[in-house]
Amino acid sequence: MNIFKRLIIIFICFAFAALLLKGGHFVFKKYVFDIEKPYYAKVIDARWSVVLLNNGEKVSLAGIFIPWDKDMINYNPELEKNAGKILNGKTVKIELVERHRSGAYHKYDLVRICLEDGTCVNDYLLENGLAFFSHGYYRGKDRAFELEAKAKKEKKGIWANKDKLTLLYVGSKHWEGVHYPECPEAKKIKPEDRIEYYNRLPKVHWYRDGYPEGCPYCDEIRKTKPEHLR
Ligand SMILES: [Zn+2]
Repeated sequence: MNIFKRLIIIFICFAFAALLLKGGHFVFKKYVFDIEKPYYAKVIDARWSVVLLNNGEKVSLAGIFIPWDKDMINYNPELEKNAGKILNGKTVKIELVERHRSGAYHKYDLVRICLEDGTCVNDYLLENGLAFFSHGYYRGKDRAFELEAKAKKEKKGIWANKDKLTLLYVGSKHWEGVHYPECPEAKKIKPEDRIEYYNRLPKVHWYRDGYPEGCPYCDEIRKTKPEHLR
């Protein structure tokens, strides 16, 4: 090992020790393991899944997707207000679920928000069919997935008129990504793992399971859908 490499290692060790002494381990925990104490704040406004707090922060409800593109098929303007109807003006408890990732749908941290009576708003929206489940690698994903499945089965909220929704993509709860419903790969997904994406544009990652470069079947299907070739 040359002297240059040794100096670099010594420098890294010193920097790490300094970081620990300065409370850097909290920063490390916060950003690497997403550990942060829950806190309370008042909700100024909530639209779609984005919540503006009285500390000036904006956060996003983990596991919640509410379509906001007005060109979307069968767009329902009432959906925009569902989170606000429950949250606006309330003092709530906020738990960090995941820091925002580059390339994520929007730049806010993903959180769980609970009311003073203990109601978790993320769960409430899903179990009453007031929002779609949004796939992401965060804690509690399975529970959110089950709540949506239950609302679907009980035909609550958006699921009351399921025939008016358009199934655009299919994914699995075990991986992030989508196939077209007519793709042979989509048909291999077990019913209990299947995630259905209705009325949303392909801003989610495309076909990641076994096809990091893209799914050849979906590439062919996409050619028949000119609106997806933008
Ligand atoms: Zn495919």
